[in-house]
Amino acid sequence: MAKIIDGKQIAAQVKAQLKTEVEQLKEKGVVPALAVILAGDNPASQIYVKNKIKSCEEVGIKSLSFTFDSSVTEQQLIETIEALNDDKTVDGILVQLPLPKGLSEEKVLKHISDLKDVDGFSPANVGALTLGRDCFKACTPSGCMKLIHSTGVDIKGKNAVVIGRSNIVGKPMALMLLAEDATVTVCHSKTENLAEITKKADILVAAVGRDRMVKADMVKQGAIVIDVGMNRTSEGLFGDVDFESVKEVASYITPVPGGVGPMTIAMLMENTVKSAKNRLNK
Ligand code: NDP
Repeated sequence: MAKIIDGKQIAAQVKAQLKTEVEQLKEKGVVPALAVILAGDNPASQIYVKNKIKSCEEVGIKSLSFTFDSSVTEQQLIETIEALNDDKTVDGILVQLPLPKGLSEEKVLKHISDLKDVDGFSPANVGALTLGRDCFKACTPSGCMKLIHSTGVDIKGKNAVVIGRSNIVGKPMALMLLAEDATVTVCHSKTENLAEITKKADILVAAVGRDRMVKADMVKQGAIVIDVGMNRTSEGLFGDVDFESVKEVASYITPVPGGVGPMTIAMLMENTVKSAKNRLNK
């Protein structure tokens, strides 16, 4: 029976440590600040933004909210971002996705300064991650790495399989595992014989968006299983991993909810504090 990796508890530890660092920054005259831009009335986005602002309060980060209705134009969003780029008291800028229909995320996001891109989505930050340089790393895979580290298992030389190759989860996840010397395989919707590949994984990360698709017979005995998926169904919220069966096979497993989700926000706080430290050291 697998040990449950408690993302809520680990996120709380990360935030407690950040709170101390924020107090030290404030003593030196720097108040870390995160600007959050929300456009439209997507209920899930509203909840995510509310949770991010709540976490800022917990850690002592100042949050600035910019809310627009779905009739907002790309130009209005870009002007807001550019004003925030110029504001020396703002450390991080986050645009909650998805944007309302008809607005190009790429066109809008590219205006966020690389130095304030605390989501780690910009081509410069993704490029720096690929090159192994210091950068803002995407929050969800960073959080997954912390959860894997919490097991105490050495990643070096392990077979890691990532299911999913999105720009915000799967690809950066694979790069982060590679940077820690795992042997990494990335699977996607065109992958043949998925189960044969996943069964070889010492570390298995599922970031697909398909309700409980990873079953026990796809998992190696003793594997670490990290479930990024968040699938809202009529029965409730489920991950990409069939937790009930897989927990009998894995050595460690993350639950949904209470696994990766809380870590994503904690890593956003970490990136904002990192940016504030950069401001202090300029
Ligand atoms: P995307 O839809 O962008 O990517 C899904 C990936 O899964 C794609 O690479 C796709 O392949 C692959 N895929 C789809 N079907 C299959 C299949 N049958 N077999 C193997 N691979 C498949 O999703 P995201 O990466 O943005 O998110 C993934 C999940 O993680 C979602 O449930 C999302 O809600 C959740 N999420 C959770 C977060 C958290 O904080 N907990 C944060 C971000 C996401 P292809 O590229 O070929 O299309």
